[in-house]
Amino acid sequence: MEDKRTLSEPQLKQSPYTVEELRAFMSGLEGRYDLARVVDPVECRKLELQEDGKVEALGSCYSIWNADQKCKNCSSAVACRTGCHQEKLEHYQDRDYFIQSNPVSLRLEDGSVYNAVIELVNIRQETAQGGNDRAAENENGNGARYQAQHDSLTGALTADAFYEQARKTIQGEPTRAWVVITANIVNFRLVNTLFGVMKGNEVLVRTAALLRELAERADGLCGRLGADQFALLLPRAQYRENDLLLLARSLEKTFHSGLYTFCIHFGVCRVDDASLPVSVLCGRANSALYTIRDDLTQTVAYFNDDILQNMLREQKVISSFDEALRSGQFQMYLQPLVKEDGIAVGAEALVRWRKPDGTMVMPGAFIGILENAGLIQKLDLYIWERAVQQLRAWQNTHRSELTISVNMSAKDFYSLDVYEVLTGLVERYGVDAAKLRLEITETALLVEPDKSIAIVSALREKGFLVEIDDFGKGYSSLSLLKNIQADVLKIDMGFLQEIRDRKRSGIILKSVINMAGLLGMEVITEGVETREQLAALADMGCSRFQGFYFSRPIPVEEFETRFAAEG
Ligand code: C2E
Ligand code: MG
Ligand code: MG
Repeated sequence: MEDKRTLSEPQLKQSPYTVEELRAFMSGLEGRYDLARVVDPVECRKLELQEDGKVEALGSCYSIWNADQKCKNCSSAVACRTGCHQEKLEHYQDRDYFIQSNPVSLRLEDGSVYNAVIELVNIRQETAQGGNDRAAENENGNGARYQAQHDSLTGALTADAFYEQARKTIQGEPTRAWVVITANIVNFRLVNTLFGVMKGNEVLVRTAALLRELAERADGLCGRLGADQFALLLPRAQYRENDLLLLARSLEKTFHSGLYTFCIHFGVCRVDDASLPVSVLCGRANSALYTIRDDLTQTVAYFNDDILQNMLREQKVISSFDEALRSGQFQMYLQPLVKEDGIAVGAEALVRWRKPDGTMVMPGAFIGILENAGLIQKLDLYIWERAVQQLRAWQNTHRSELTISVNMSAKDFYSLDVYEVLTGLVERYGVDAAKLRLEITETALLVEPDKSIAIVSALREKGFLVEIDDFGKGYSSLSLLKNIQADVLKIDMGFLQEIRDRKRSGIILKSVINMAGLLGMEVITEGVETREQLAALADMGCSRFQGFYFSRPIPVEEFETRFAAEG
C-alpha cells in the first residue's frame, strides 16, 4: 500500500468534459484512492454522473472538511474559486484525511459549462475503517452539525440552506414550474460608508423582510446569498413582475435621502431543467441582473439565450486560458510613447491574444472576464515578465534608455504580493526598476485604498515609476490625487471627446496639465489621433504622447525597426 499522505495527481484536460467522458475518467481512478468523487463545492455535495448524461447533486453537506466552519474554506471550495489544484490535511473524529481538490469543468447537456471539483481522498490507514464506507458515513451522518440554517441578521435562509431547500422543493414537486430570482442592492457599500453599519443593517433587515413576505405569500423560499444579495424561489404561477416593482418602490421610499438613491435590481431565471444545481440557477439569474447593473432606471432583468451565449463565451475564455498562456498565444504588443517630434522614449505593453487559427483577440474581449474569474494575475505576471525580459534585451544597446509601461489590474493587488513580484522580477533580470513603469487605474486604487496606496509608495521607494492611467475616466480622480503620490498622469483623450464643446474640453485639459505640473507629475496624453490634437496639446504644455497618430500597438520587432532603429 502506498503512503496515504501522497496523492498522485491525475492528468486532467483543460477543456470541459462531457458527463460521459468524466464518468469514464472517474472509473479509471477507481482503486487508486480511498475515495474519488466529483463534487459541487458551492453547494457542498457530491455529484452523481448518470449514464443518461444527467448530473444529480446528492446528499447534504458532507461536512467533514472544516466541519465547524462549514465548507467555504475547504480545499475544494478554494480550488473552485481559484481554478487551481489544492491539497489539504483535515482531522476529523481522530482520523486524518489527505484531500486533493482538482478543478474540472463539465459541459452539461444544454451546452452550459459547470465548474466542479474532483476530490481525491486518502484516509490515514491506522485509523481508517475501510475508506469508502467511512467517507459515506461521514457524508450522511452530519445533519446535527448543520443547524444554523438561518442568517442571524435577516432571518432569511443562509446560502447553503437556500440551495439545499430549493433543490429539494424543485425536485420534490417535479410537475410544478418555478422561477429563481436573485436580488442585489445597488451600491450597498455606500450605505455603510455614508450612514454607518447600523443603517446598513436596517436596510438589509427591511429588504429581507419584504422579500420573505413575498416568498411566504407565494409558498416559496427566501435566502441571503451574500452581504446584500438575496435569492427567492417562487412557483412560476405566483410570480408577478409587478410584485418586484412594488417592493422596489416601497424600499426606495423608505430609504430615500438626498445623498443616496436606494435601488434594488432583480434577475429572474425560469427553472427549465430541474436537475441543474440551484447555485447554477442563481448564477444565471445573477448574470441577467448583471446586464442592468449600471442602470438605475431598470429593476428586473430576465435570463435568456443571449445571456447564456455570453456566459458560454466567457466560459470559453476561462477554460482555454491556461492552455493559451502555456502555449504562448498571448503576445506583448508595444505602443510607442513619443515626444512631440515623434521620437520614442518608451512604450506601453498591451496584450494581444493570437488564437491558433490566426485570429487576434483584443484585450476588451478578455481582460474583464479574466478579472472576474480571478485569472488576470496570471496574465499580468506573464506580460510583466515579458516586459522585463525586453528591457533586459535592450540593455547595453542603443535602446537602453527606453522604458516600458505595464498595466496592473485592481485584482492584482489582492491576489498577488505585487511588491515582491515586481522587485523580484527586476532583480532576477538585473533591470533598473525605473525602466519598468507601472500603470494603475483609479479603480485599482479604490478597492482597498490604504493597502494599495502603501504598496504603491513602497514600489516608488524601490525606484519604479507609477503612472495613473485613464485619468478623468472615473468618478474620483481628484480625490485620488489628493491621497496618492504618483509620477505620471495619463490622460485619455477619449473621455474628452464625449464633451461636444471643444472650448470646454480645452479648458479642462489645460487645467489638468497645469495641475499635474504643479504636483511635479509628468503628463502623457493618450489617444492622440490627429495632428491638430497634437499641436493643441503641445501648446498646453504636454510633452509626451501616445496614440494612433504616431502608431497603433505593434509587435516588438516592428517597434524596434520603426521606432528604435540604430543610428
Ligand atoms: P489602456 O491601458 O488605457 O491602453 C490604451 C488603450 O487605448 C489601448 O487599447 C490602445 O490600443 C488604445 N489606444 C491607443 N491609442 C489610441 C488612439 O489614438 N485612439 C484610440 N481610439 N485608442 C487608442 P487596447 O490595447 O485595446 O487595451 C485596452 C485596455 O485593456 C487597456 O487600456 C488596459 O486597460 C487593458 N489592458 C491591455 N493590456 C493589458 C494587460 O496586459 N494587463 C491588464 N491588466 N490590462 C491590459
Ligand atoms: Mg494603460
Ligand atoms: Mg489608458
